[in-house]
Amino acid sequence: MTAPSSCPHTERKEGVCVVCGDCLHEVILNGACFLCGTTELDPVALSPKKSGLIAPEKLVRKK
Ligand SMILES: [Zn+2]
Ligand SMILES: [Zn+2]
Repeated sequence: MTAPSSCPHTERKEGVCVVCGDCLHEVILNGACFLCGTTELDPVALSPKKSGLIAPEKLVRKK
């Protein structure tokens, strides 16, 4: 996992902290967070979401 946010709370609803409103940006639609609407998303934080995609280079090595 990447560095956690500044939010010290653990109770969240759909990725959004119920105490301070900190958002995990778990739902991304068209480059923007569906939950809080921000488009300033950290590419590093989003990278794990792309783990399902297989790079073409890796397909070449597989015979
Ligand atoms: Zn919080
Ligand atoms: Zn968000």
